[in-house]
Amino acid sequence: MKEIFAARQIEISDRQEQQFQKYYELLVEWNRKINLTAITEYEEVIWKHFIDSAFLVCSSITTPGKKDDTIRILDLGTGAGFPGMVLAILCPDWQITLVDSLRKRIDFLQFVTEELQLENVRLFHGRAEDYGQDEKFRGQFNFVVSRAVAELPILLEYCIPFVKEKGYFVSYKGKRYEEEIQDSRNAFDKLDCELRRVETYTLSDKEEKRYLLFIQKNHPTDEKYPRKPGKIKKQSL
Ligand code: SAH
Repeated sequence: MKEIFAARQIEISDRQEQQFQKYYELLVEWNRKINLTAITEYEEVIWKHFIDSAFLVCSSITTPGKKDDTIRILDLGTGAGFPGMVLAILCPDWQITLVDSLRKRIDFLQFVTEELQLENVRLFHGRAEDYGQDEKFRGQFNFVVSRAVAELPILLEYCIPFVKEKGYFVSYKGKRYEEEIQDSRNAFDKLDCELRRVETYTLSDKEEKRYLLFIQKNHPTDEKYPRKPGKIKKQSL
């Protein structure tokens, strides 16, 4: 495990290696009872879930805000914990909030958090559309991250309301990202945010390119966003 992370210039400690090992075992074990992932083979999980999720840590974007402030990160639609749980293991100083609308996945992540003795993880079961209108969540995060949850115009409405002014929404995307950006022009405008940077990476020589889109929030979000569930998908911005 250490060698694979090192191949991507990420050094992990013995404790972190043990935590990833345990996380892998729990993922495979729970996956027999509840649907968590289609990938279960050891190396594939490490590359496609762990290393892929970890790419934010390699990025050159530094965190907004004062250095001594706690960095707060929200993973929206975390599923089995990607990328959020991986970031929590790698960065014990960051406070990570994981949200998902499926109760069983949050139950799994609760168990993982306890087994790995992670003290920087908070878990919430529910929808982006509801938490996004809750003052305890709105505008509270330096970074919001999300992988494989929705098309960008929908995802922006889910995620931008949670971001602090000048903070970033980081979207993990595949090769269609340019088209999704074109389709999101109105959403960028309505939600007052801008694409600042795109970082590219590959998991291996054989794999397709992957992208991290860094979208910065300019101003507080208009209170009408996010709209109600259903509305966002039916009439995306
Ligand atoms: N991010 C994970 C999971 C992707 S599957 C990964 O990359 O592996 C998408 C997840 O998003 C599902 O677990 C689903 O329950 C959750 N989800 C979809 N729409 C949501 C919403 N509006 N609010 C909260 N969670 C949502």
